[in-house]
Amino acid sequence: MFKHSLKEKWFNLEMHDKCPQCEQTYEPEPGFYFGAMFVNYAFSAAITLTTGFILYNFFNNPDTWVYMTVVMSFVALLWPLMFKYSRAIFLHLFGGIRFKPKYSD
Ligand SMILES: [Zn+2]
Repeated sequence: MFKHSLKEKWFNLEMHDKCPQCEQTYEPEPGFYFGAMFVNYAFSAAITLTTGFILYNFFNNPDTWVYMTVVMSFVALLWPLMFKYSRAIFLHLFGGIRFKPKYSD
């Protein structure tokens, strides 16, 4: 789906227009990935809640600026991961794409 994996280039978000193996288009309609923003929002909320929970319970409820700094750092570091997974999840949920094992070789 993406030209480079996260292992190769963390901040590179280039996408193929079509799947190199099965010709499946990755943009079913213009602006399709606008909805992926809501999946990304769910990821951000999960990171915020998890980080908040860990800081509150295991770091003795630090000051508010510590929460803000830690949460923003995690979200800033993980945004390429969230971007790619939110697009992939959104495409699989709403793009009508199904995994076909015969193309996975
Ligand atoms: Zn394919």
